[in-house]
Amino acid sequence: MNIPKKVKVGGFDYEIFLTDEELIVDYQQCTGKIDYDQQTIKISKVLRAKQGQEQTFIHELIHAIARDRDLNWGEETEKNTEALANGLYQVIKDNPEIFQHQTNNCNVTIKPFEQQDISSTGDSKSLVDCQNGGGFVNPKTIEEAILKVIKGN
Ligand SMILES: [Zn+2]
Repeated sequence: MNIPKKVKVGGFDYEIFLTDEELIVDYQQCTGKIDYDQQTIKISKVLRAKQGQEQTFIHELIHAIARDRDLNWGEETEKNTEALANGLYQVIKDNPEIFQHQTNNCNVTIKPFEQQDISSTGDSKSLVDCQNGGGFVNPKTIEEAILKVIKGN
């Protein structure tokens, strides 16, 4: 996941900052903060792990969406936001193919190394991995193909 510099929610562009400043919401120190008026989302660098920053980003995003859609979650808002953010984060991380751009060109088999006899080594995989979600390039296969060219076999 890439935390962007800007995210559009409804009609608003929120700017996103990774920050060293102490973030306080309702007298409590927190890891993320959204400002609806300034249209900013701040994520604390206290979270060293990328995963923590990403989860916080999703959390603040849900606040932005709830605000934009005029959702009133009552007293449990923060708890619900946290649960939804963590759940959504897990689904996004564990199912990357859902969010990958598909080119719908599965009938086109890309074989840029046709002169190299890849199939004789038992590796008949194409560079486009259509079985596993289709349409996007399998980086491992590219790496293997490049190594074959470099090694000259
Ligand atoms: Zn929150």
